[in-house]
Amino acid sequence: MTPEKRAFENHKLEKRLCRLVGQAINDYQMINAGDRVMVCLSGGKDSYTLLDILMKLRQRAPIDFELVAVNLDQKQPGFPAHVLPEYLSELGIPFHIETQDTYSVVKKVIPEGKTLCSLCSRLRRGILYKVARELGCNKIALGHHRDDMLQTLLLNMFFGAKLKGMPAKLVSDNGEFMVIRPLAYVAEKEIIRWAQVQAYPIIPCTLCGSQDNLQRVQVGNMLRDWDKKFPGRLDNMLKALQNVVPSHLMDRQLFPFQTLQTTGVADANGDTAFDEEPLPTSQTLPGSVMVPLSIG
Ligand code: SF4
Repeated sequence: MTPEKRAFENHKLEKRLCRLVGQAINDYQMINAGDRVMVCLSGGKDSYTLLDILMKLRQRAPIDFELVAVNLDQKQPGFPAHVLPEYLSELGIPFHIETQDTYSVVKKVIPEGKTLCSLCSRLRRGILYKVARELGCNKIALGHHRDDMLQTLLLNMFFGAKLKGMPAKLVSDNGEFMVIRPLAYVAEKEIIRWAQVQAYPIIPCTLCGSQDNLQRVQVGNMLRDWDKKFPGRLDNMLKALQNVVPSHLMDRQLFPFQTLQTTGVADANGDTAFDEEPLPTSQTLPGSVMVPLSIG
């Protein structure tokens, strides 16, 4: 690729990231005038991208809001504590590094060989709330992206027997903060590309030595595999999360199946109970393959 072509492609990607993040912020009213947003920065590709794109959007936004980058140094062995302060000072953005040795606490409490993540994230959550309060932030921005959301949806279905994803916006469990995920519409592969373009000083996420959640890894691989074989499928899955039809699921709390009454009035858009749901053909849905339905 020529340098000109590369610069063009990078600019296109930057515009696309800004558009998708702006759209998610708008769709879910994530940021309002006067907000002070704490951007959680782990040193991974996702949080660097989040901060980067939010800073770009802030410059062009018609409203005033503030961003404060926050990193929690959990004292994992080998954590390069100088990387983020250097990076953030150079960016010229307000930031705070909170140092709390949760690593030792978790190591002491959890027996050898067991996964550390659930206690670790609980401790981290409490600390981040405290920091957000001290910094006067009312919103907390996290770097989860489209693929994280789809993974969570499938994991909850497969192992939790729940149709439950990862929300783009939610009230923190202590009721105090609005938690937002502005990368909700962004595919992980685009973040990977952008992180390469920007050459972020990535801090590896394996410092704690904890095993990655095997199920999450497997579901992530499955999604990546689908994305290669069936382009468009993951975007459709994300759209499906925004296009829920409670009458066609089976949750009796969401739809009054038990008291449902006939109306006696024809509904042109009503469902044809005896026919199969029409599916798009492979021509209209990119990458899809038609699977014959067995009858009988
Ligand atoms: S991977 Fe490590 S740092 Fe992350 S939640 Fe698990 S124990 Fe904590």
